[in-house]
Amino acid sequence: MKKQVRPRVESGPRPSLSFVAKRTGKAPSHLIDLDLQERKALLQDFGYPAFRADQLSRHYFEHCTVDPQQMTDLPATQREELSAKVFPQLVTKVRDQIADGGKTIKTLWRLFDGVVVESVLMKYPDRATLCISSQAGCGMACPFCATGQGGLARNLSTAEIIEQLRMSMLGAAAGDLGAPVRITNIVFMGMGEPMANYKAVIGALHRMIDPSPAGFGMSARNITVSTVGLVPSIDQLAAEGFPVTLAVSLHAPDDGLRDDLIPINSRFKVGQLLDAARRYFVQTGRRVSIEYALIKDMNDHEWRAKLLAHELNSRGRGWAHVNPIPLNPTPGSIWTAATKSAAELFVKTLRDAGIATTVRDTRGSDIDGACGQLAAETLDPQRVAKRAAKAQAAVDAAIAVHRKEPANLSKLLADESATNATLEEAK
Ligand code: SF4
Repeated sequence: MKKQVRPRVESGPRPSLSFVAKRTGKAPSHLIDLDLQERKALLQDFGYPAFRADQLSRHYFEHCTVDPQQMTDLPATQREELSAKVFPQLVTKVRDQIADGGKTIKTLWRLFDGVVVESVLMKYPDRATLCISSQAGCGMACPFCATGQGGLARNLSTAEIIEQLRMSMLGAAAGDLGAPVRITNIVFMGMGEPMANYKAVIGALHRMIDPSPAGFGMSARNITVSTVGLVPSIDQLAAEGFPVTLAVSLHAPDDGLRDDLIPINSRFKVGQLLDAARRYFVQTGRRVSIEYALIKDMNDHEWRAKLLAHELNSRGRGWAHVNPIPLNPTPGSIWTAATKSAAELFVKTLRDAGIATTVRDTRGSDIDGACGQLAAETLDPQRVAKRAAKAQAAVDAAIAVHRKEPANLSKLLADESATNATLEEAK
C-alpha cells in the first residue's frame, strides 16, 4: 500500500494510527482484479481471442469455478494453461468455526504470503449475509478490537476480497449452512477499514454488483460498506454512483470519548463525520447506518443516547438508522457489554427522540466472535490479549472524565428543541 490519504504514522500517548502496511508484497495478478475490458486486453496479450475473457468470467461469476475441468467450452488443450495463468490460487481455507446451531460459520483464510483474514457467513430467515475482510489486520488501532491490536499487515487486492465471496458462495450452495443457500448480502465489516483500501474495495464492489460476465450481478442495496470515519473517502464513495449502504462505526457521540475510543477521530471529528454521512444520504438516497457498540459504563449512558439523537436530529430527520450492538469483547479485555437495562434505556431514549433504532444481534458470540479474533488467536493469542489489556487500560484511565454528563448538555438539547419547533412552524 503506497498511496495514502493520511500521514504515514501518527504517534503519541494514544493508540497509533497506521496507514502503512507492514508487508508490502502484492498478491499475484488475478483475472478478477481487472474489469471486463482489461480482461479482454489481457487475454489478447497472452495470444488468445478476446472472447475467452467472457468465457472465463462466466465460469467465475456464474458457476463460481476456477476448475479447468469444468470449463468444457474451452479447447481441451488450453484449459489447464489458461486457468493457471489467470486464476492463481490466492486464498486457501484454513478452518471453519460453526456457531448459532449451524447458522453462523466463521472462516479463517490464508493468503498467498501466509497472512490470514476472516469472513463470517450468517443465515437469516430471509437472507444469507457474508461479512468480509478488506485488509489483513487494520491500522485504525481501536482499543476495543482484536484486529486493531495487531496493526495493519497489508491491503487485500480486489481478487483477494472477491475470492472470500466466491469460495463462501460455493460452500453456501453446497449446504454448509444446513441447506443450499445463495449469498444475497455483503457487509464490509470483517478485518480492516475498507475506506483505507479504497481502490481495491471499489474494484470489489464492481465485481459484486456489475452483471455477468463483468461481475456477480448482486443488488447494490444489499451491500454495506463500513467506516470508522475517513471523511474524504465517504465523499468519494458517494460520488461513485453505487447505491450501497454506508455504515458509520460511531461508538460515541462526543469527541472527548471518541478521540480515545476511535483514534481516527483525532483527524476527523464527530461533527465532520456526521456531516459527511448526511451528505452521503443526500447524494445516494440511502439511509446511513450508525453502528454503536455498547460498552459497559464507557459509552452506554442515557445522556450519550440523548446527545446522539441530538447530533442526528440536528442534521435532519429520517436520514440515519442506529444499530446498537452489545460489545463482543477482545481476549484480555477489561471492557464488557452494556447491561441489559442500560442497553434498553439507551435504545428507548433514541426511539423517544424519533431515531429509528434496531439492536443488532451478536452472531457468533459463542465462538471467537469479535472482529479479527480468530485471526489474532491463530497468530499470537497471548500477544493480542496483552496488547488489548494494555491499550484498554490506558484509554480507560484517560477517559474517566468523559463518563460524566457534560454541564451544558441540557442547554444543547433545549437549543435543539427550539430549532425543531422553529422548523415545524416554518413548514
Ligand atoms: S474496529 Fe474496525 S477500524 Fe477499528 S481497529 Fe477494528 S477493524 Fe480496524
